[in-house]
Amino acid sequence: MALSIPVTWSDAHRLHAPGTAVWVGVRIDADELPERAESIRTALEEAGARIVPAVPHPDGPLLAVHDVGLVEFLRTAWESWQAGGMPEASGADEVVGYIYPTAGLLGGLDPHVPTALSARTGSWAFDTMTPVGEGTWEAARAAVDVALTAADLVLDGAPAAYACCRPPGHHVTRSAYGGSCYLNNAAVSAQYLRDRGKSRVAVVDLDAHHGNGAQAIFWDRDDVLTASVHVDPGAGWFPHFLGFGDESGTANVNLPLPPGSGDAIWLAAVDRLAATVAEHESEALVVALGVDAAAGDPNSPLGVTEDGYREAGRLLGALDLPTVVVQEGGYVLDTIGMLVRATLEGFESTR
Ligand SMILES: [Zn+2]
Repeated sequence: MALSIPVTWSDAHRLHAPGTAVWVGVRIDADELPERAESIRTALEEAGARIVPAVPHPDGPLLAVHDVGLVEFLRTAWESWQAGGMPEASGADEVVGYIYPTAGLLGGLDPHVPTALSARTGSWAFDTMTPVGEGTWEAARAAVDVALTAADLVLDGAPAAYACCRPPGHHVTRSAYGGSCYLNNAAVSAQYLRDRGKSRVAVVDLDAHHGNGAQAIFWDRDDVLTASVHVDPGAGWFPHFLGFGDESGTANVNLPLPPGSGDAIWLAAVDRLAATVAEHESEALVVALGVDAAAGDPNSPLGVTEDGYREAGRLLGALDLPTVVVQEGGYVLDTIGMLVRATLEGFESTR
């Protein structure tokens, strides 16, 4: 049976094509590539899904979850970097930070806005692996429109919509970007659903890495539940500093899993997250769908299969809530499309 879930899309994702990222001081090949979204689109079109072009939205929904300073930095960073001569002066053809105002450095003082362009990135970035290149802003901003267009479809009565967002967004907090993410597409969608009448919303994050962004953004609120299953950061995995089981905001659940966890353990956790959504009495659901928990994805040591993702889709579909599915991670080009397709097919099998 053809997939009936509409797939929202923007060609603008192709404008963000980082060549390299900096990790522990060395340049490494980027893996958050345009081919990811293209592979997903191909697999979903083959399954019969309908592609819906993203509709531009004003900045209001974006600024409802992000600091205006972060948004303006990302909007202008590349231009400023060029205008300030950074590529010639430093050899850096993309915007990357080098000094970070950690709590220990500041000792309780408010940081000044750095004069040097080389330092300004540290005000907003939390890592060096998330470069801002020539088309990064346009792509990231379009990804927000992709997510909001999916949310509009759901608000207009579609049972669910899938937002083929790229770059991903789930690591971005109110005022800090990183983890290959620039703007938090899932969090923007959740707040948008809230502001348009859904009194309680849940964000369930299936990406292999902790959904620290939504956790931070909605930490002290009970109207937006944030629930994440991911590889245990305590076992040495990104985002390292956060994502532990004892972090409990007002409505927040983390289920960190040991490396090597496969379908049985992972699906039991997804089932627990679904039960938490039911207890929260959410009226709408946002799924931050990363497929990097799959066996064979070098970015995580989890071992979820395609059938595992299909079953996860079924568990979340059975909640019978208006649902926006937002694409996050997943880095194996040969399998990313089939994993997303399996999840959406599982989701639809319940409807
Ligand atoms: Zn991930």
